[in-house]
Amino acid sequence: MSDNKNSSDTNNEQTKSLNFIEQFIEEDLSQGKNDNRIHTRFPPEPNGYLHIGHAKAICLDFGIAEKYNGKCNLRFDDTNPSKEEIEYINSIKEDIHWLGFDWEDREYYTSDYFQKLYDFAVDLINKGLAYVDDQSAEIISEQKGTPTEAGVESPYRNRSVEENLELLKRMNNGEFDEGARVLRAKVDMASSNMHMRDPIIYRIMKVPHHRTGNKWNIYPMYDFAHGQSDYFEGITHSLCTLEFEVHRPLYDWFIDQLKDSDYRPRQIEFNRLNLTYTVMSKRKLLQLVEQNYVEGWDDPRMPTLSGLRRRGYTALSIRNFIDKIGYTKYEAMNDITLLEHSVREDLNKKANRVMAVLDPLKVIITNYPEGEEEELETVNNPEDPEAGSRTLPFSREIFIERKDFMEDPPRKFFRMGPGREVRLKSAYIIKCEDYKKDHETGEIIEVYCTYDPETKSGSGVSRKVKGTLHWVSAKHAFNAEVRLYDRLFNDETPDGHKDKDFIEFLNPDSLTILKNCKLEPSLKSAVKGEKFQFTRLGYFCVDNKYSKPGAPVFNRTVALRDTWSKIKKK
Ligand code: ATP
Ligand code: MG
Repeated sequence: MSDNKNSSDTNNEQTKSLNFIEQFIEEDLSQGKNDNRIHTRFPPEPNGYLHIGHAKAICLDFGIAEKYNGKCNLRFDDTNPSKEEIEYINSIKEDIHWLGFDWEDREYYTSDYFQKLYDFAVDLINKGLAYVDDQSAEIISEQKGTPTEAGVESPYRNRSVEENLELLKRMNNGEFDEGARVLRAKVDMASSNMHMRDPIIYRIMKVPHHRTGNKWNIYPMYDFAHGQSDYFEGITHSLCTLEFEVHRPLYDWFIDQLKDSDYRPRQIEFNRLNLTYTVMSKRKLLQLVEQNYVEGWDDPRMPTLSGLRRRGYTALSIRNFIDKIGYTKYEAMNDITLLEHSVREDLNKKANRVMAVLDPLKVIITNYPEGEEEELETVNNPEDPEAGSRTLPFSREIFIERKDFMEDPPRKFFRMGPGREVRLKSAYIIKCEDYKKDHETGEIIEVYCTYDPETKSGSGVSRKVKGTLHWVSAKHAFNAEVRLYDRLFNDETPDGHKDKDFIEFLNPDSLTILKNCKLEPSLKSAVKGEKFQFTRLGYFCVDNKYSKPGAPVFNRTVALRDTWSKIKKK
């Protein structure tokens, strides 16, 4: 899956092999190109929130700059005012910082170059390399031809320079309707590269821009803005995804008309991140938000960085995952279990183990004195000696997980059943003596146990007991809401079906809200974003939207192990 053997746990830089992009860069450096400057940029279009695919580009753009002592700009490619919003700009900045990268004072906007781009367009007209076309977009696209058949030249292709200049000015003055005219580059209608067949470079859009207001009635096409913006900023390496490979000759053609020295940005394309059980296109993510299939861009089921953050993913786990999959020239589908593994690996080291019972069943310890209670010591995180310990209150009535009791358990059920013994984690061994059942519903109401005071955790006295259960003291626990998330789609490639819309593959059980969970008292003061391992259940994170001081709501980040592949095989 990867030709990049980089790994988070390889500390020795020397032993890391270079990926193909780093190899190109080192080649350029060894030839002294661009005075040995390395300057990259991350160029999002502010028309949605960033997703984990963008994280792959961010880690590369900023990572390369860091590694080679260079710089990385943040540039908003804001050429389409009808789809762009300030909310997106702010979220993009927040997400990049969260991932651990910084653009310093280099926050740029393609809209800052609108005048330069316009002047360049005028320049092209003067050189006879651009013309105003009065035909509709449909006709223009029909005339483009096919990859094996040359296109048809527009009847407006040989307009005079004066007429073109006049019309472009009037287009920008707002004298024509949207769609009435476009400006096209005069390149080659017979090129084998469709992007070279007189591409549209300006269109009329009578939409105010969030940065330039009503100044412009025409806006440059992305392809006319992107490469030149890199050039204006002195970018040395323009790293982008593979689909732009076929655009490169056009970008080069524009730079050829523009440049006045040897300098030009070098574009290098890499494979995009695709994840199983996920859609990644911003258009589709927007549809999920707008049609309320999810609660917003930051819904914990979304592959957006804000969603993953809310879900409890750490920035490090995402960076490690991206490092593991690496950068290649081949399109690949990345297995989501690899991402889930990465978050477990990180949280295992960082998250304190705590007690939470999601589906409570009351257990009464009949030989524990009524009214008595004690504090039992428990280690916070066995993987982290620095994490210390805390105490858990224990008393006569506790809750265990309903699933941990069976009336008539099979032999290999190492949990609780009549006559059986289990250990309560960090507490005592208890034995089930009896239970009470609602005979109408079949529901178990209470379980009666005795405890063996000799077996207190840490006392050294132990018996062979196979099962260890998590629990909370009934009197001391508090009620909380816990949200369990499952995959948003129940198909590996939801947008990979020709005859079916991706919406059809939404998993109806992707969100389960549990309202009656019993949590150990220390969790009451948990703060937004704080992460825990609920013993035996998985990793959980305090939700940053619904939580209130003293009343945390928890999101399940990930279960302790991958249960999905097992379910699927059944
Ligand atoms: P989408 O296809 O999701 O709508 P986009 O490419 O239109 O995304 P941009 O805002 O233009 O989104 O992307 C900014 C940068 O992020 C580009 O350089 C693009 O190549 C890169 N990028 C976008 N999606 C991915 C992905 N899945 N994997 C790697 N890089 C990506
Ligand atoms: Mg794009």
